[in-house]
Amino acid sequence: MKKQGSTAEGNRPGNPLTDPDIIIEGGTLLTMVEGQAPLKPASLSIKGDRIVGIHTLPERPRPSPGVEIIDARKGIIMPGLVNTHCHTAMTLFRGLADDLPLKEWLFEKIFPAEAKHLSPETVYWGALLGCLEMIASGTTTVSDGYFFQDETLRAFHESGLRAIVAQGVIDFPAPGVPDPRLNLKVGRQFIETWLGFSNLLTPGLFCHSPATCSDKTLRGAMEISRDFSLPLQIHLSETAGEVKEVLQKTGERPVLYLERLGLLNEGLIAVHAVHLDDEEIALLARRDVKIVHAPESNMKLASGAARVSEMLKMGLTVGIGTDGCASNNNLDLFQEMDSAAKLGKVFTLNPVDMNAKTVLKMATSWGARVLGLETEIGTLEVGKKADIIILDLDRPHLIPLYNPYSLLVYSANGADVKDVIINGRILMKDRRIKILDQKEIMEKVRHISRGIDA
Ligand SMILES: [Zn+2]
Repeated sequence: MKKQGSTAEGNRPGNPLTDPDIIIEGGTLLTMVEGQAPLKPASLSIKGDRIVGIHTLPERPRPSPGVEIIDARKGIIMPGLVNTHCHTAMTLFRGLADDLPLKEWLFEKIFPAEAKHLSPETVYWGALLGCLEMIASGTTTVSDGYFFQDETLRAFHESGLRAIVAQGVIDFPAPGVPDPRLNLKVGRQFIETWLGFSNLLTPGLFCHSPATCSDKTLRGAMEISRDFSLPLQIHLSETAGEVKEVLQKTGERPVLYLERLGLLNEGLIAVHAVHLDDEEIALLARRDVKIVHAPESNMKLASGAARVSEMLKMGLTVGIGTDGCASNNNLDLFQEMDSAAKLGKVFTLNPVDMNAKTVLKMATSWGARVLGLETEIGTLEVGKKADIIILDLDRPHLIPLYNPYSLLVYSANGADVKDVIINGRILMKDRRIKILDQKEIMEKVRHISRGIDA
């Protein structure tokens, strides 16, 4: 009698010590590694928090009975998306104030709503709602900057997302930091409290902008970030008005001003970067400053269009961010990619610019580089963290499949994501979120919103 499972090479009985925990099989796999073609039909194995194997299907050995198999036939397997700029708890203000001039929107609607309605509790629930939305639309890493960040961090921790959680720094009384003289002290304490707490979560600082932070605050925030080897985020040259304001305040355009303060380096994440002249783009490239493109926020607030194609040609690393829900109004990075491609083409009047593959890199491998996480995430490779999403292509708007990059950027949306794995943990399976209580979170935020006046 033949021993079961010992019949042929590649069909041995499994070994629980070396067998993967999860195998994803079937479908088209995009590694997003430079120069690698899509793999089909693919098999990807996960052990613990890491990817341990990537093969075409017939090569993989037969797994032990305990291995979880995820069926990805008729699907695309790809790295989870990286949202390089978000104010997650601002889901609370989704749709509160739209179609307004920027100053009126910010100073008469958003800042007052934040002053009145943000509390540790509302930030916690708003952040949880954002986590739900991001997981459900295929985002696996997010860089967040806001206030009451202990609560945002708690929400991320409970959700299982990978995140940079940055304490907001501004020279005005802010939610949770009523005395702006303490903003850097609060920031440093935030970092000291949470550094090393979880390998999924990195604390940091987020300066609101060169217009709303003083020289001293900007320098101090960079010093703290360098002390802990952490990136520093800042909104930079988002609007023409902001550039004018900084010019009046300092006599210099924002990028040159930050250069003088010593802020331009590889650890600075400059968000928006819409109004830059040639000299500023060249300087940012020389200093290896990282750029976040937030096309939907820039379009909705009529801020302008960032010169992304030129930045890429100059060698800058550019990622994509949704910004907060008050200026977007959702956290769906698939829609953001579509907008990034199309806005880029409209801006240069060249349909060749910002092609689908480029935009997809911005939302995956380049996004990871923006956040300094490129050795761990952003591509699917053996040894990297298992942050993986699977899209279900068995839908009318996703047929036929000629070019997976085009399909993902121009046809797909977040609701097509079927499964989400972060750090080797399945957070969504067959569109069912496994960790958070979706019903409770949605009900809580509905309840909070009833107390917020439009
Ligand atoms: Zn922002």
